[in-house]
Amino acid sequence: MPNFNSFQELLTYCQDNQCGVAEAALRYEEAYSGKQREEILAGMRAILQQMRDTVSSGINSTEKSMSGLTGGDAKRVMDFMNQPECFLSPIEMKMIAFGLATLEENSRMKRIVACPTAGGSGSVPAALIAVEQDKQVNPEQTLKGLITAGVIGEITARRMFLSGSAAGCQAEVGVATGMAAGGLVEMMGGTPEQVVHAAAISMQNLMGLVCDPVAGLVEVPCVVRNGLSGVQAAASATMALAGVKSFIPMDQVVEAMAAVGKLMHPSLKETAEGGLAQTPVAKAFTERFKSQKNSPDVISEPKE
Ligand code: SF4
Repeated sequence: MPNFNSFQELLTYCQDNQCGVAEAALRYEEAYSGKQREEILAGMRAILQQMRDTVSSGINSTEKSMSGLTGGDAKRVMDFMNQPECFLSPIEMKMIAFGLATLEENSRMKRIVACPTAGGSGSVPAALIAVEQDKQVNPEQTLKGLITAGVIGEITARRMFLSGSAAGCQAEVGVATGMAAGGLVEMMGGTPEQVVHAAAISMQNLMGLVCDPVAGLVEVPCVVRNGLSGVQAAASATMALAGVKSFIPMDQVVEAMAAVGKLMHPSLKETAEGGLAQTPVAKAFTERFKSQKNSPDVISEPKE
């Protein structure tokens, strides 16, 4: 069983064995984890169910985060879905709401599934669960999408650190969106090549994205970035399913992203010393947050 150190290795295995990406990932897991297939699948089903539970609680909550910075936007988007001014389709609206919901639950210290990190945890559930619900996809097919997203994250993580502090937000929301895009293609019955093209298309669009969280909290801009990521993943998956190919092979996209992460200035890697974290409104909030963080009171929303 190959070790899947590259996407090319994964694709070669799929081609030689006439199998899909999720099947290849399951065989890999069986070979190296020592677990039986049913045990692996049971674990993945539990993860998927937790994602559904997080989305479900998040879209119905108006509770603010401990800092008061975020909370309630997922519900706002869900409520807006049936308004005459809404011009996006229900599936796109759900993708936005589900991504927001997951990160809002993270900010409320509720249970989420890191995918690949907490900061990027909204993309995969947003994309997969919205499509599952709207297209009435068999949950076992969604599971294949999740397994596919997992192997994309795993191979990428062997080439670069998946954290904002190591390589910026491209390594969190960027990689998460690539995982979601590939997962969607698998879920919709695409080929292994299309899975990998979708991930590559998506990740090149978020290359260079900096990590600039206000007050160092995983809230602003993290929540809205996750809200947008499911739609981007869906667009990338649609392009790949339509036959659009990434000119740059996925392995080289990942190498380029890792190199960009190394070039990125430390002020843009989770230190809150650059980007949005250094805007006047962010700095004013940070001052209030620092002075009140030992207080049990929730900090009021930042004023314009
Ligand atoms: S901005 Fe930084 S902390 Fe926020 S999601 Fe992106 S990488 Fe994570």
